[in-house]
Amino acid sequence: MIDQQIKAVIRDIADFPKPGIVFKDITPILKDPALCNGIVDAFIDQLKGTRVDVVAGVESRGFLFGLTLANKLGVPFVPVRKAGKLPFSIKQKVYELEYGTATIELHTDAFEPGQHVLIHDDLLATGGTVTAASELIEEMGGVVAGFTFVVGLNFLNGKERIAPLCDKIVVLAE
Ligand code: IMP
Repeated sequence: MIDQQIKAVIRDIADFPKPGIVFKDITPILKDPALCNGIVDAFIDQLKGTRVDVVAGVESRGFLFGLTLANKLGVPFVPVRKAGKLPFSIKQKVYELEYGTATIELHTDAFEPGQHVLIHDDLLATGGTVTAASELIEEMGGVVAGFTFVVGLNFLNGKERIAPLCDKIVVLAE
């Protein structure tokens, strides 16, 4: 099963990036081409019947599988980036963190109003980042098609937080 394969290779890094945080390092997945293909195939399988016009990948690890997923679905990929990285005209969303705020941005031509945009990231923690992405996409006239993640940290209840935003939530390993 894909969840067991993912769990077998990701590793816990204690005290990264700050003391007290246990960081899930997904980079060993990237060294296994068969597993990478299996991850994208599992997303595609679980998205059957879901309209996806565009895949929006969240900086930076959301780019890794987001682009391949979009390519295999035959739809455009657009990057959701941190402030100041996108060169064309942008729309932005400021959102609350535990301490302070963060900003994400999309190009104004990322999608057309009414298009169904799938939000992809490597990992679901509290759900704050993808909630902000979802709000930004809706403010730009898009429809959130669903959310896909390689890994979910259940104890942070991110799924419960994003469930009201869209009922299509795919988490491969949790
Ligand atoms: P959230 O907004 O709290 O759901 O945090 C999710 C974002 O933080 C994603 O963009 C993840 O890439 C990143 N993130 C949070 N914790 C981890 C982790 O343990 N490993 C890898 N990425 C993480």
